[in-house]
Amino acid sequence: MSNGAIEVRDLTKQFGDFTAVKDVSFVAPEGAITAILGPSGSGKSTVLRMIAGLERPSAGRIWIAGEESTYSSTQERRVGMVFQHYALFRHMTVAQNVAFGLAVRKESKAKQRARVDDLLHLVQLTPFATRYPDQLSGGQRQRVALARALAPAPKVLLLDEPFGALDARVRHDLRRWLDEIHRELGITSLLVTHDQEEALELAHQVIVMHEGRVEQAGSTQAIYNEPATPFVASFVGAANVIRGLVIQGRVQFGEQQLEGAMHLSEGAAAHAYIRPHDVLISSTNGAGGVAGTVERINDLGWISKVHLTLPDGQEVTAHVPNDRLVEVDVGGSVWVDLRNAKVFAPEGPQNALSDELAIA
Ligand code: ATP
Repeated sequence: MSNGAIEVRDLTKQFGDFTAVKDVSFVAPEGAITAILGPSGSGKSTVLRMIAGLERPSAGRIWIAGEESTYSSTQERRVGMVFQHYALFRHMTVAQNVAFGLAVRKESKAKQRARVDDLLHLVQLTPFATRYPDQLSGGQRQRVALARALAPAPKVLLLDEPFGALDARVRHDLRRWLDEIHRELGITSLLVTHDQEEALELAHQVIVMHEGRVEQAGSTQAIYNEPATPFVASFVGAANVIRGLVIQGRVQFGEQQLEGAMHLSEGAAAHAYIRPHDVLISSTNGAGGVAGTVERINDLGWISKVHLTLPDGQEVTAHVPNDRLVEVDVGGSVWVDLRNAKVFAPEGPQNALSDELAIA
């Protein structure tokens, strides 16, 4: 393992009878931002808390920057942490908050001052040094929290929904800002988020968690373009789901067929996941087009969401840039081309669906 990386192997956490994290293994590479992405309750924070030393694993091992840290104390691990609810000290100024970790380590006053100056400059809060947390906006507070986490020169940075409590605009600005800071410092960072846009925009690697397990780990492109499971296909990025049956390696739905089911057995139920931008609509029929009826159009200014019904009654949504939108009228017909379908066997009991379609 390279020296600044974080590695966890077969990490498991039980709370009584409940397994919150099960056999989680990954490497967060040195110098990169790795995002742990998943819905609420999927075990993301528990993984991060075990890496931080705030929670003891029930099983498995943890290495931080080449050292096994499974049972070492939080102090020994030298991790910097920024949590959504990891409040600043209200009775301390911004500068005192940032200096806190250095004061605990009994660094000289001169050293503390120099480091605080550097960090406040880095997070662009130099003019706010003597303010108290109450006198800052939410976004500014999280920037102070980051400066405080970085002050003792941690080996790695752990961020748990750091912008979770902020409004969309501020989140967006802070994301760009965190990206810039990370480029400057190059510190190995692990970011927990339930926001797929945040993960895709910031991270070099994404680990998708679901019900305490890792569903898929990979680059943002791999997660988005080559989802390994139906869960990843629907959780990361929007997706239409078309239900059908496997006939000769294709998904048959009504009179129509989609490629991509060679890996499933003949006659089995299949779900095809198609991104809304892979639903192309046109006024003339290209090869393989399906007739669709326009049910509703939402114009978002630069794209339109066109809601369509296919001949067998299933619904799909197309996202079409407005400069490429053909004449469409609600109630009218268009040709629909479904591209890049990712086909999976349905999760959970699907026999009922399969029977229903077989009868139809
Ligand atoms: P969120 O985004 O909502 O924070 P998460 O993916 O971070 O979710 P965790 O906080 O890791 O999820 O929690 C995973 C599961 O473990 C949840 O079902 C939670 O209720 C449970 N859990 C977490 N901490 C404890 C605890 N101390 N005792 C019992 N159960 C816990």
